[in-house]
Amino acid sequence: MIRQYELVDMVRAYDPNMDESMLNRAYIFATKAHGNQKRASGDPYFSHPVEVAGILARLKLDTATITTALLHDTLEDTAATHEEIDQTFGSEVAAMVEGVTKLSKISFTSTQSEQAENFRKLLIAMSVDIRVLLVKLADRLHNMRTLHFIKNPEKRARIARETMEIYAPLAGRIGMQEMLEELQDLSFTELNSEARDSVIVRRDFLRQRTGDSTDRIAVLLKETLAEKGIGATVSGREKRPYSIWNKMQRKAISFEQLSDIFGFRVIVDTVDECYRALGVIHQKWPVMPGRFKDYISTPKRNGYQSIHTTVIGPDKQRVEIQLRTADMHRMAEYGVAAHWQYKQKNGVNSSALLHDPYSWLRELVDMIEDGESPEQFLEYTKLDLFFDQVFCFTPAGDLIALPRGATPIDFAYAVHTEVGDSCVGCRINGRSMPLQSELQNGDQVEIIRSEAQTPSPVWEGVAVTAKARAAVRKYVRQSQRGEYIALGREIAQKAFRTEDYPFSEKAVSQALKPLMLTLVDDIYEKLGRGLLTGLQLMEAAFPGIKMKAPQIPVALAAKDGRRQRSAAIPIRGMTAGIAVHYGDCCHPLPGDRIVGIQTTGGGATIHTIDCEILEQFGSTPERWLDVSWDASGDAPDFFVGRIETTLSNEPGSLSVLSTLIAKNQGNISNLKISGRSPDFFDMLVDIEVRDVKHLNNIIAALRGSPHVSKVERTHG
Ligand code: MN
Repeated sequence: MIRQYELVDMVRAYDPNMDESMLNRAYIFATKAHGNQKRASGDPYFSHPVEVAGILARLKLDTATITTALLHDTLEDTAATHEEIDQTFGSEVAAMVEGVTKLSKISFTSTQSEQAENFRKLLIAMSVDIRVLLVKLADRLHNMRTLHFIKNPEKRARIARETMEIYAPLAGRIGMQEMLEELQDLSFTELNSEARDSVIVRRDFLRQRTGDSTDRIAVLLKETLAEKGIGATVSGREKRPYSIWNKMQRKAISFEQLSDIFGFRVIVDTVDECYRALGVIHQKWPVMPGRFKDYISTPKRNGYQSIHTTVIGPDKQRVEIQLRTADMHRMAEYGVAAHWQYKQKNGVNSSALLHDPYSWLRELVDMIEDGESPEQFLEYTKLDLFFDQVFCFTPAGDLIALPRGATPIDFAYAVHTEVGDSCVGCRINGRSMPLQSELQNGDQVEIIRSEAQTPSPVWEGVAVTAKARAAVRKYVRQSQRGEYIALGREIAQKAFRTEDYPFSEKAVSQALKPLMLTLVDDIYEKLGRGLLTGLQLMEAAFPGIKMKAPQIPVALAAKDGRRQRSAAIPIRGMTAGIAVHYGDCCHPLPGDRIVGIQTTGGGATIHTIDCEILEQFGSTPERWLDVSWDASGDAPDFFVGRIETTLSNEPGSLSVLSTLIAKNQGNISNLKISGRSPDFFDMLVDIEVRDVKHLNNIIAALRGSPHVSKVERTHG
């Protein structure tokens, strides 16, 4: 634990005019307030605020922020009051402590719409003073560093998930790269330690093979620039496991294909030198096309500035290089925190920066406070977390968060089931629009209702949220039951006729017990829905009956049942009730871009957009169906994805493969060896997965194993 004088020394080292007495008072105040409270680690609780203060001191923040860090848990966890803090430390610190306390009370484990509301609260809480967020992030960082002390695994996972989804992106949003990466990596350790371990093993293996060339390349870069009269600081660094993993997943590339496990930073004095250094580097080594990005002329929204390029460097290795000035480097590392760092005499001040990195936050908050239009509000809230969502508003201004692709029907059901059931039309931003319209961020949606209306079965294919679909399905099931019963009765009568048995309700009821049903209508409904055949009914009603009609082997009828589901479940853009088949040619998975091809039987086969078979239908565009996956996620189904892999031919390879797949919740449904050599063998593996992301996850995990030399998804 950092001692009182050590903390004071740390701050004084960068801020000679600091308020030493304030820090001392806060240190003692917090020690007393927390008394003998303990942390999960067994340490005195007080060590926590001190470490948080230490993190912020390393970011060179001002005394008020560090004082706030020392006091940040006193309002919540001790007898200390706002008035007390206000009197002892002044209103600036008191307001910040209050802000951090509020922020800590916001929970992100709630439902989606509550989350949006909580997110709004979070923005408002941190907007009072951005330093409040800095303290909160430091608080979260220390809690993550000590997460392993918490015994309850669910609690650990919840905290890690919240960090990954909310706090890490926020750190990124305000430009704190270091903080972002450490938070992500600590969460990754908790959420997927096996993947992380495999990345580390693989990285170390590669490093061994190529040797640690980082220093050599750094020196070479520095010398090359010096020859042209450019003085530069060059450093090489390894990416963190989570960044590597993330890239492997996102781009579905293998470890070897990653060019930037090692990145180099060239830091020069002026913007002019950045471009000159770039020229020198591009002259000396060939440039990788498509990898050049100039964030100096066009900074990222969070204020980040740098030039990125990748060249084929010495030893034909790909080398990623970032070029920036010292000021830009400070911004890239510390983000918003750089603004609050103690400003030395000849240091930069914020006006020297081209871009105000948290203007977005202030604008956003001003808008919320001024009650500005929702569109503008949303324009600014594009955190990663909400990429898959649209935010719409009721005429009264209430926020409704929906998944992307949602329609007014989803909106109506999100407001209330009754509103959904009785909706007949809608106005979006004041204009009458079809109920099938896809809602956009910021739309104001007014639902038009009529008591005479009932939900249409078509809606099930139009809605994307589980709530709307479940409500429609329930309604439709009830109203359709009558029709199915009537149809089922006809089927039963026909079956009796075919077998020359006199039809009676009583005779049919003899099948109830063997079929484990309670009402004769249940039998009819099953018949009507095709879940039961007339022959099966006769067998159940008259055990041992000699059938006249030709027998259809049950096995044949059931054979492909698992891959044939009703259209309404996972595919949008098709009428409910159409039989959907998934192409065995391409094994489409949720998340793939897909098209439907109408089959002659009136059903449809789903193919991936790049399936070769589609060529055959080039001349019959009328058979193409515009379909997409349903995003509501209420289908617990799995799909079969196929991978092609090359394993090293040695004991244990196969078991590593199956273990990795199982650990990532995949189930091997088929496995075939397609080629063999003394050192390697090729295999096709069919795996039951939830969607493309799930399969990519498995592929990335396999790529991390030294036994697997190649793995690709295949459509053949
Ligand atoms: Mn805390």
